[in-house]
Amino acid sequence: MPDSDFGYTVWGKDWVRLAEPLRQTRPDPQLPRARRLARAGKVEITTDGRTVRAVVHHGRTAFTANIELAPMPQAAVAAISRRLSGPRPTLTDDLYRTLTADGHRPAPHLATTDCTCPAATPRCVHVLAAYYEMARRVDDDPRVALDAQDYFRAASQGADAAAAASATPQRWIALNSLEPDDYF
Ligand SMILES: [Zn+2]
Repeated sequence: MPDSDFGYTVWGKDWVRLAEPLRQTRPDPQLPRARRLARAGKVEITTDGRTVRAVVHHGRTAFTANIELAPMPQAAVAAISRRLSGPRPTLTDDLYRTLTADGHRPAPHLATTDCTCPAATPRCVHVLAAYYEMARRVDDDPRVALDAQDYFRAASQGADAAAAASATPQRWIALNSLEPDDYF
């Protein structure tokens, strides 16, 4: 069980799967090094919208890997919002399984990756190290998984749109309910 320290929640496991896709039958020889970099605290993560930026330190040099995620489908944003009502919703493994059963599995999907290193591959050791570091962070706080997909902004925009949509009919209902007989 050498690598159970990454992805021990289902939310974090999604990020391990980006490094270790199930369709890949032979393990990538770079994975142990990528895990070591993450474990040793060599990966600094920042997120901006749906872009995860990882600065990976290698001795005196550092490379920057950018991972851009695909937008979360509106239906998934709405489904998660419905399940997350309440003042302090918690993102449990059970919630994840419920969303998955509803057809809205909240797993991240890659749009693009790039890195400043010379490896010229979408799966250089820095990108892989970034997946592991994200797995660790997501295990600590699954909200990180949703934030990296820009869920919270999308959800608040969705809530605004829903409020606007429900405000309009209410206004019309109010106008229609003014019976002329009440005034004469
Ligand atoms: Zn790289």
